[in-house]
Amino acid sequence: MKIIQCIDEMQSIAQTARVNGKRIALVPTMGYLHQGHASLMVEGQKRADLLVASIFVNPTQFGVGEDFDSYPRDMENDMRVAESAGVDLIFAPRAADMYPVDYQTYVNVEKLTLPLCGANRPGHFRGVTTVVAKFFNIVSPHVALFGQKDYQQLAVIRQMVADLNMPVEVIGMPIVREADGLAMSSRNSYLSPAERVSALCLSNSLNAVRTAFCKGERSVAALKNLVLDTISKERCAAIDYVEFRHGLNLAAVDTADEQTVVALAVKIGKTRLIDNRVLGEE
Ligand code: AMP
Repeated sequence: MKIIQCIDEMQSIAQTARVNGKRIALVPTMGYLHQGHASLMVEGQKRADLLVASIFVNPTQFGVGEDFDSYPRDMENDMRVAESAGVDLIFAPRAADMYPVDYQTYVNVEKLTLPLCGANRPGHFRGVTTVVAKFFNIVSPHVALFGQKDYQQLAVIRQMVADLNMPVEVIGMPIVREADGLAMSSRNSYLSPAERVSALCLSNSLNAVRTAFCKGERSVAALKNLVLDTISKERCAAIDYVEFRHGLNLAAVDTADEQTVVALAVKIGKTRLIDNRVLGEE
């Protein structure tokens, strides 16, 4: 497995691979890799001849006062995880090369980025779509894999790809969880042992909603109360949002159906965690 920092080198390797008829898969990440990332890589490996994983803590998707500086980084472990998941090339560009002085071009998906994380993290998705568009131009993937853990991000990227006619197949992959249900996330490393226990209120509340839904409850108001009850029992938990949305267009719904996604953002102490569940999925 090779690590490439230079954008031009990455671009020329990708072009040569394409000329030679190779299929390229891309898994964009911010590093501090875990089994959630690895699941995307393993799937990417099945779908392509050349599997590229990018590792880049993207400054443009962090707001003022967010955790860009403290975001966890561990390149040695990342290399081990990526290699055992079948990655051929790690693309880890420098921020100064991705965004040189006088950089001024951004990609912005409009309506879909307004609610949920977009409401609380202004500019976040603009940074995400910009960096992903740049990666698509540099790596020229036939297929790119993203996790449903970042449900809105996946929807926003699908919208960008459709709107801008990008020739990339976007694959959404299921959320990988710890044995006790916590969705894997690089940010889980911020949690103290007590907070790690409290953080289970996210997945527990989603499970409670799914159980009630399976028993026939369809009122979003009633289902939302289950989430609020579960989370309010944790003293260190503060809700950022609890939303019931249509799974494709993210429109607000007041009656739940199989396509409804329940999306949560909750601060556990200082750590903001997200999780979600599509009610019709097991
Ligand atoms: P990140 O490094 O957090 O930006 O995530 C990189 C990619 O991995 C994104 O497409 C995420 O949705 C995906 N991802 C992160 N955590 C998980 C998880 N627990 N299960 C599945 N995919 C994940």
